[in-house]
Amino acid sequence: MGSIDNQTTPKPHVAFLSSPGMGHITPLFELAIRLVTQHDFQVSFLVITTAFTPAQSEYLNANPHPDLHIVDLPPVDMSGLVSDDMELGTRLSLIVQESIRPFRSILSELKGPKLRALVIDIFCTGVFEICNELAIPVYSFFTASGVLFTLSLYLPSMDREVEGDQYVETVKVPGCNPIRIQDLQEPVWNRNSDDYKWYLFHCRRLFMATGIFINTWEDLEPVSLKAVKHEPFFLNIPTPPVHPIGPLVKQIEPAVMVKYEKEMIAWLDKQPKDSVLYVSFGSGGTLTREQLTELAWGLELSRQRFIMVVRKPSDYAAATFFNVGSESDDPRTYLPDGFIERTKGVGLVVSSWAPQVAVLNHPSTGAFLSHCGWNSTLESLKHGVPMIGWPMYAEQRMNATMLSNEVGVAVKMHVVGDKGETVVARREEIKRVVQMVMEGEEGKKMRSRAKELEASSRTTLSRGGTSYETLARVAESWKLG
Ligand code: UDP
Ligand code: UDP
Repeated sequence: MGSIDNQTTPKPHVAFLSSPGMGHITPLFELAIRLVTQHDFQVSFLVITTAFTPAQSEYLNANPHPDLHIVDLPPVDMSGLVSDDMELGTRLSLIVQESIRPFRSILSELKGPKLRALVIDIFCTGVFEICNELAIPVYSFFTASGVLFTLSLYLPSMDREVEGDQYVETVKVPGCNPIRIQDLQEPVWNRNSDDYKWYLFHCRRLFMATGIFINTWEDLEPVSLKAVKHEPFFLNIPTPPVHPIGPLVKQIEPAVMVKYEKEMIAWLDKQPKDSVLYVSFGSGGTLTREQLTELAWGLELSRQRFIMVVRKPSDYAAATFFNVGSESDDPRTYLPDGFIERTKGVGLVVSSWAPQVAVLNHPSTGAFLSHCGWNSTLESLKHGVPMIGWPMYAEQRMNATMLSNEVGVAVKMHVVGDKGETVVARREEIKRVVQMVMEGEEGKKMRSRAKELEASSRTTLSRGGTSYETLARVAESWKLG
């Protein structure tokens, strides 16, 4: 008797399933954290352990919360199923397909009350049937830009209507700005590729979602968001309810920084405000040896302060053919001779990985030379940092074009030719663009636009702001449901 007072009603329970890769895990996990800390949910965050990298587990384990449970799916043996020469989207799709074979029993074994919803990313659309049978509503979290989102909703129709092996004409997504053919990512461009087929498969299945979250907000992408809401094409297909809840980006975690990362921040502490260019190409981008040499010279000639994250060039092994066995991760072996010495005090070169959000948040950071991955883009804008767009793969070209032509927070390096081919940017051009952004009038304008978006991102994510309230409404509906 009386025990009822001691019993607390269990918090409503939601599960997440993300495909491997920081690009997807990060926004899904940040959403999970918000549900737990701001909306009083408990979350089971299902993690596909195959192809798991240290950066991922470090990130997932950094902030333990009693209501956020990380659940590792049973590892699957992918040998014979995926190979290194497979495109990324294909590889991800196959890994997820194998990992979710026992999904019904995985869900039934989750601790906690019955699930109110499951949140997935674009590569996990294989769970719809099982979840339908179990009456669990599935929400898709589209973790890329609104530009790619509208294209992805349009893709099944475009695929039906257009003939040929490749798309060759400017893409006109209803209600959106035209997309130049050379800005289409490789998998969309080449219709015979496995990546294209997989991506189309997932896009068709987006329509099975009860709702779609998207990591953007009105002030950043008004055109795409207006199109999905009001354009007859999107109303007729019909598009599931779309919930813009961005920008959800990684939090700054000084507590988990390792020594060299702390040293980088200490170095930034000593530099003048807005004086440092941060150079990084995402979690996996690499340059050719020739391009890296030009970039290093361009930075040196610009006489600006910089932090550059470098990786072994993509053609490094070939270049050191006669040196087999001496491959090294020491940047000195692939940067121009004497570069590190000559730029000492002005520049900082780090191998492979930087605490990016802490760097972007630092007052000394004045601009970001970036591959324009969507997470990097959001992190830059959330911290008011203008960009130099240097797109590489996936939808980064569209992002770079949108950021420079529509948003006015970036200039693009000329690294894409008229036919979509990769073009080598030369040192003089790099020097010119870097100086323009760091010191010129153009740079000032872009910086003030980036500061506006920083303020607007803060507003939209705060109580009463659009992204906050959009998520709150969905969370409320889950509680009632
Ligand atoms: N991709 C896509 N839309 C998305 C996310 C990914 O078309 O919303 C495609 C992208 O074109 C690429 C592949 O999926 O071929 C891998 O995407 P990404 O580089 O984002 O992978 P990550 O590094 O985040 O795992
Ligand atoms: N990142 C980082 N340090 C690095 C490079 C990348 O912390 O040196 C993080 C970055 O903050 C972002 C993610 O890795 O959250 C990269 O995601 P994005 O979508 O920009 O590009 P992708 O890696 O998927 O191409």
